[in-house]
Amino acid sequence: MQVAQFFDKALLAKYNTSGPRYTSYPTALEFNTEFEQADFAKAVSQSPNRDLSLYIHIPFCHSLCYYCGCNKIVTRRRDKAEDYLLYLAKEVADRAKYFGDHNVTQVHLGGGTPSFLTKEQLTTLVNLLKQNFNFAEQLEMSIEVDPREIELDITDHLANLGFNRMSIGVQDVDEVVQIAINRTQSTRFIQQLVERAKSVGFNSINLDLIYGLPHQNQETFSRTLAAVESMNVDRISLFSYAHLPSRFAAQRKLKDEWLPDAKKKFSLMRFAIETLCAQGFDFIGMDHFAKPTDELAIAQKNGTLHRNFQGYTTQENCDLLGLGVSSISAIGNSFSQNNKELKGYYKAVDQQGHAIEKGRMLTTDDVIRGQVIKALMCNMKVDKTAIAKQFDIDFDQYFADDLVSLSAFIDDGLVTVTPSEIIVAAKARLLIRNICMTFDAYMKQHINQQRFSRVI
Ligand code: SF4
Repeated sequence: MQVAQFFDKALLAKYNTSGPRYTSYPTALEFNTEFEQADFAKAVSQSPNRDLSLYIHIPFCHSLCYYCGCNKIVTRRRDKAEDYLLYLAKEVADRAKYFGDHNVTQVHLGGGTPSFLTKEQLTTLVNLLKQNFNFAEQLEMSIEVDPREIELDITDHLANLGFNRMSIGVQDVDEVVQIAINRTQSTRFIQQLVERAKSVGFNSINLDLIYGLPHQNQETFSRTLAAVESMNVDRISLFSYAHLPSRFAAQRKLKDEWLPDAKKKFSLMRFAIETLCAQGFDFIGMDHFAKPTDELAIAQKNGTLHRNFQGYTTQENCDLLGLGVSSISAIGNSFSQNNKELKGYYKAVDQQGHAIEKGRMLTTDDVIRGQVIKALMCNMKVDKTAIAKQFDIDFDQYFADDLVSLSAFIDDGLVTVTPSEIIVAAKARLLIRNICMTFDAYMKQHINQQRFSRVI
């Protein structure tokens, strides 16, 4: 992979607008409160899928990272998790009724901080899921881990429960950066955690990094990237820090003058991408890197990579059930989201057994456009013939206006349209969101609203 071609400054400047990350199409902005339980039940009954992915949101964190824009609750009180598990149990019992014909092939614990839960609480949660759903013999079980406030042997406990994938929040190993973001943690401990996880059978380990944080520069970030290399993991997520202090109060603790300016931030991104690729990772796209032997990299090479609310995945034809506060489900041709506030979630589960607050039944047009956008995001090309056959449409006629909108990208050598395919050039990898936006029927309503992060 020739990495230098990703960084054509003139093209990146031309297309550096705001855009969705397309973990779904339509995006969550199109969800509405008219979606209700009956729609959910209908979506389950009409779904052709028999595989099920479970996402469980654990909203609690021990302390506040000042860069954070997630939906979380910072508390030192472990008993809050006890209450939460009781409500999760009620929600699981209610939702499981709909999935008796499904086999769970994926479980993902996200947050917040799933490792906020004690070992006993983790056991309770996994047993709850196993008692209520049919677990496939082979399944992926993954968990996001905060390397603070845990013991090394958490890995052994997780492995015994069936977890085989782990994602660890590293962000940056530099002490000055860590103090500024209020997230001091030991790199040595993370190394030990990775080694121990490998030794007890975890077969995929991901590290999260962030560029654009206070006091970061190429020298400090090179130490972070060197530390990452020494850990020899399978995947890296490299996120851009989006400074939005008017939206996220904690970010007001980060002074503007501490942050790298746009030029320095771009240099950091370029440096990180080049370094990770030189370390042997494939750049999968949208912040994600995987070793060539990792199934995500293999799936992308085979054109079979997929994308859902949790990011890239190899699993197609799989319904996704979100459990817990704010979690999102994608069942058949529907999306739905639980109440985002803990109090509201508890009240809804008490009253109804579930906490669906909003959602959307997809139209046929949503489904067709969603397929095109997913193909672009995952595989950088669209098989027009296959989409035309699948949906019984004339592709060029159906997307006549969208294909006209692509002309700027075609003129810039970023996209090629043939009678059978749309092919995105490697040099457009960082601009893939912009190309997807041309197929987004809702985008015109949001284009000037700064509802999304910048694509670079
Ligand atoms: S970054 Fe993670 S651990 Fe830190 S406050 Fe946000 S959700 Fe919690």
